[in-house]
Amino acid sequence: MDALSTINIRQTPQSEQAAPGQKRNAAGGYTFTVSDDTKIHRFLSIGTEGGTFYATEKEITKANAAVVLANAAGRGSWLVERIVEISTAGRAPRQNPALFALAACSALADEAGRRAAHEAIPVVCRTGTHLFIFTRYCEQLRGWGAGLRRGIGRWFTEKDIDSLAYQMVKYRQREGWSQRDLLRLAHPVIEEPARRALFNWTTTGSVETSRAPGGELREVGATREDLPALVGAFECAQAATTTAEWVELIGAFPLSWEMLPDAAITTPEVWRALVAKGIPQTALIRQLPRLTRLGVLDGETLATVVAQLTNAERLRKGRIHPINVLVALRTYASGRATKGSSTWTPKAKIIDALDAAFYLAYGAIEPAGKRTLLALDISGSMGWAQTGLAITAREASAALALVTMATEPDAACVGFSTNLVELAISPRQRLDDAIRAVSNLAFGGTDCALPMVWAEKTKAKVDTFTIITDNETWAGSIHPHQALTRYRQKMGIDARCVVVGMTATDFSIADPNDPGMLDVAGMDSNVPHLVADFSRGSI
Ligand code: CA
Repeated sequence: MDALSTINIRQTPQSEQAAPGQKRNAAGGYTFTVSDDTKIHRFLSIGTEGGTFYATEKEITKANAAVVLANAAGRGSWLVERIVEISTAGRAPRQNPALFALAACSALADEAGRRAAHEAIPVVCRTGTHLFIFTRYCEQLRGWGAGLRRGIGRWFTEKDIDSLAYQMVKYRQREGWSQRDLLRLAHPVIEEPARRALFNWTTTGSVETSRAPGGELREVGATREDLPALVGAFECAQAATTTAEWVELIGAFPLSWEMLPDAAITTPEVWRALVAKGIPQTALIRQLPRLTRLGVLDGETLATVVAQLTNAERLRKGRIHPINVLVALRTYASGRATKGSSTWTPKAKIIDALDAAFYLAYGAIEPAGKRTLLALDISGSMGWAQTGLAITAREASAALALVTMATEPDAACVGFSTNLVELAISPRQRLDDAIRAVSNLAFGGTDCALPMVWAEKTKAKVDTFTIITDNETWAGSIHPHQALTRYRQKMGIDARCVVVGMTATDFSIADPNDPGMLDVAGMDSNVPHLVADFSRGSI
């Protein structure tokens, strides 16, 4: 045998390296590794919670943290910009990665980067809970310096007084921190009477006294009239014992359910009043099981909830992430809590509303108008429930495929492991039915080249391959980027390929030297927009 005949740079088995810079992935195949930009994008939008099929949560968190810390130290200002961009647009299903990365910049960046990080605190830490989580991360990475104290102080001084009072009464303590602890640390200096009264009330329990840095109480000139009205309403609600009192207070003040005593939040009439007043979108989605159990989802209350759930403006303002809607939909439709033992009988109208909210949460997507093949990795490893959410990568990818199917006039969908099957899913189906269709397939090994190999074999005309995968490919006799090149040559179509990565690893089947291949991070709510833009050729 001629040993030289085995050297082939146009077709290499995935078990061998096909290009310099390829690295062995966790499944044993060779794939490219992604740039730090993509690693940070994956970390911020996917996170590491739950690990992957191949790596434990601890391993993958350690690897990602190393990248975040290195980038915080090396290019902190750039990282702060990325954090602000993804966090403020609500592009990630969870805020923790952004808060961790911001704490890393506060600890390790150069002076400009640190200043940017501290200025971003009120922008990224939008709720009291965000601020507590950020503070906890800071304590893991650094000590208490003047810049950080000032940054946290800004959270208390830059908001308008009513929004601040709302946050401070709603999130009194979380994550082992209380507002009192943070105020004592940050010690913002304030002249505004209402804000001083609020801080005194928080730190000493009384408007008339404040606590000096040394710890001793002292009398100050503030009076109860200075306090924001919500604080008084909160105290009245806590002291009240009748439904009528609570309903009246809810009608008059923006009280959230967290501000009410336990007796109130088990009362159906209280929830009807809260719905009529307008529950913030995230809380509304989370409280659907409770509303159902309490039997208030009928008549006008049901109509209001359905209208609010499917209100595009509310979804946008509440920064509702479509993947979180999907998780809520799955949990709600199952009729039982993922944690705890509570059960309910789901309402069809609510399931339909959540189904519509999922698509709406992605915002309006401009179709690329290209012949699109969506290829879903349905192999065993995609069955892993990651990112701390109650859905698997496979389920999330099916939902994501439906978004493009609903947008592109000429799109087809296939699933692959070491075989390829055409998937009969459509956005006309309800989301949970479509996901079920994908979950019932037989799974096996992984060959990410199959979509291109199959399209070449069947002479399918494809302008854009969108491959949704964890990039742990190993079983094929040709690498995916080689199969794409061959497809272009054989079919005479300059096809593009978007690789939608569903895990925060550093592997990708996308050849970084091929401008016709793009890596995107699957949990980013911007993905359908990025895919359409790249498919169209506008990026
Ligand atoms: Ca796999």
